[in-house]
This record gives sequence, structure tokens and C-alpha cells, in this order.
Amino acid sequence: MKVCIHRGTKEIGGTCVEIESQGKRIVLDVGLPLDVADADQFPLHAVKGFKKADPNLLGVIISHPHQDHYGLAYRLPKETLFAIGKGAAAILEAAGIFTPAGLTLQNVTHLVDRIPFKLGPFTITPYLVDHSAFDSYAVLVEADGTALFYSGDLRAHGRKGKLFQKLLRRPPEQVDVLLMEGTTLGRQNTNKGFPTEADLEGRFVELFKATKGMPLVWCSGQNIDRIVSILRACIKTGRTLILDMYTAHILRATENKAILEACDKHARVFLPRGQKKQIKWKKRFDVSDLYKPYRIYGEELASAAPRSVMIFRPSMAEEIEKLGCLEGARVIYSMWSGYLKDEKQKLFLEWLRKNGIPLDECHTSGHAAVADLVKLRKVFKDAPLVPIHTEQPERFDDVFGNVTMRKDGEWSDVAREPGDSSLN
Ligand SMILES: [Zn+2]
Repeated sequence: MKVCIHRGTKEIGGTCVEIESQGKRIVLDVGLPLDVADADQFPLHAVKGFKKADPNLLGVIISHPHQDHYGLAYRLPKETLFAIGKGAAAILEAAGIFTPAGLTLQNVTHLVDRIPFKLGPFTITPYLVDHSAFDSYAVLVEADGTALFYSGDLRAHGRKGKLFQKLLRRPPEQVDVLLMEGTTLGRQNTNKGFPTEADLEGRFVELFKATKGMPLVWCSGQNIDRIVSILRACIKTGRTLILDMYTAHILRATENKAILEACDKHARVFLPRGQKKQIKWKKRFDVSDLYKPYRIYGEELASAAPRSVMIFRPSMAEEIEKLGCLEGARVIYSMWSGYLKDEKQKLFLEWLRKNGIPLDECHTSGHAAVADLVKLRKVFKDAPLVPIHTEQPERFDDVFGNVTMRKDGEWSDVAREPGDSSLN
């Protein structure tokens, strides 16, 4: 078995790994680099079968529904077989109704936690992991008597942190090379560990209690763990959660019974102008009809504000200002703080100042703290570690040990150490 990281050996995002055995190939992730705005123009990775269908490219595995892992998938030939979690695929399809970043796949097989499947000479076993994207997997690929383990993106401090502990307790038996993400290497506080989603829930409760009017929470509609933290804090403070229709539709796509039952009782759905345009333009009235019993309309917002929490983004600012629901409001920013420093947010920050709205931050990383990555690495201590999804590959050796550096586009053999008992 041979492996080539086409992109990702020295950057976060844009991940694409090709694996070859007996002339057949599979790919793990086909991500759009984070700094590329126009996916249409970005040159596809040099994988035979990406531009024109190739019978030797057996499938493309999407580890999780983040754009830096699936963002170029829409440009691959229609007949390409994709393997992705069922919930992840449903989320991407739902997102496509409201945003250009959605994805509808034609030829799909679903990843199921710890259930192996075969593609030609490859045996592929997905491991469900805790990450800020719903339905995320690490992937074990076995062929030619060797095994590669790809961590995908993962963490230990989310709502599914138990999955990380389970991976430490019950890892794949034999791994000959480990491709492990190192997103948080070099970031602040990563040695101490990060706040858990449960910690954030407590902080949301405090902030909601301290707000006379409506807390406006700016978070990703696809960060299901976060929406759950917010929803739980709403229930604890007796407030109704007002979801925009996009976020409501993403939640619905998860088919998670507990979440949907809680939404049924404690959430309502608002259709912001921008999303209304998309529904009309795409004639997806079947989607808006689903939420009819749960709708809250513009004219009801001002009176509901002191008893509600709204999922918010700056594109809604002007509209809700006109609807008169900003009295005593507070914006809670619940994403990576780097985005807030972007030039593009200047106008929004100015709008906050003009309206006298305080801004608080409440966030935790979607990626494992270094201390947790060290634990994961120890589980596979005999396997050479290849850095991926990191800006600091050169620090891996000091932190994790037994590191083999690779360059983007470089092929290498996956070999089993001689004398390894599992070969005998
Ligand atoms: Zn991710």
C-alpha cells in the first residue's frame, strides 16, 4: 500500500490523501483550502479520476462535513463513489438549499461506526469521533497486510467526548502509519486543555440570565454540539430558542430524536429575508411548509425578545433592527475569534457600537488540545506519525515522537515493521 498526501502536510484545511494498492486507489477527503474563496477556479489535486472518471479510483471518503475536507467534491465526475456518514450527507444536502456551500452526491455509501467495508483491495473501517462537525469519522485503511490510520479532525472535549476515550480504549489493533491532525499545535492554552461544551452551556446560562432583552448568538448553524449547548441553556433559563430556517433544517437533517424533541418543545423558526429569497428562488416551499407549525414572524419578535434567544448572523442585523427587537440585546460570539478580527466584520462591529449592544465571546475549539493528541499518539506509539492538518509540522517530533515528515504530493510506502508478530 502506498500513500500520498496531496495537500495538508503543512496547512490546516484543504486535506486530500490518496492511497494506492494493486493499481487501485481511494482518496480520503477532497477539501477546499481555507484561504481559497473561489472553489470553481482552484486547481484540482493531481488524482487520476478527479477530472475524468477512472475505473481505478474506487471511491472518495469524506471524513466529515467541513468545507476544508469536502469543498472540492462537487467538481468530481458525477459517477464518483463517495463514502460519508448518513447524517453528514443529509446536512450537506440541507445546507445546499440555503447556501452555495451545500453538496448533493449522486453515488453514495454511508460510513457506519466501526463497521468495515471493502472497496477492491481496501478494507475501510470508520471510527465515529467527537468534532465540531456532526457525524465525523477517523478512518482505518487496510490493504496488502498493512494498515493506515487517519485521524480526520477530532477532539475530546465536545458533547461526544466519550468517543475519544473509546478510541483510546479500543483502538484499531495494528496500525503501521498514523496520519494525525495537529490543528491546535501553537495555539494558546492548548497544553491546559480547552473548555468543554458543558462548560460553555454554563457560560450561556450566565449570559442569558444577565441579558434583559434578547441574546443573539452568532454561531455556525452546522455546529450541532454548540446548538445543543445553547438549546440546553435556553431550557435552563426558561427562554425559547429562535432558530433561523437554515439552522432548523440542518438540525432536522441529523434525525437525532433527542434534539428534535427538545426543539419541538423549546424552539421556534424564523425565516430571515435572505433565506426567504433562496426558498422562493429555488421554489422549495416544501421545505418552508415543514416549519409552518413552528414559525415565529417578524411582527412577533419584539414582544418575544425578553423571553427568547436567537441564532444570529450579521446578515440579519438590519432586518431585526427594523423589527424593533434590540432593546436590552446582547450579541454572543460563538465561533473562532480570528474571524471576528477580519476586515469584513468592521461594519458589523460598528453596527453594534451604534446600537449600544454588548459583545461577549463564548467558544471552544473543534479540535483536540495537544495534551489529548499526545494520549492518542501514545496508543499507536510504534507507528511512524505523519503530520497532517497543521501549521506546525516541524514541532510534531518534539511533542509526539517517531515522526516521519512528508511533503505535499510525495508518495511513500506503508510498510509493516519486520518481526511484527501480527505478520506471522
Ligand atoms: Zn473539521
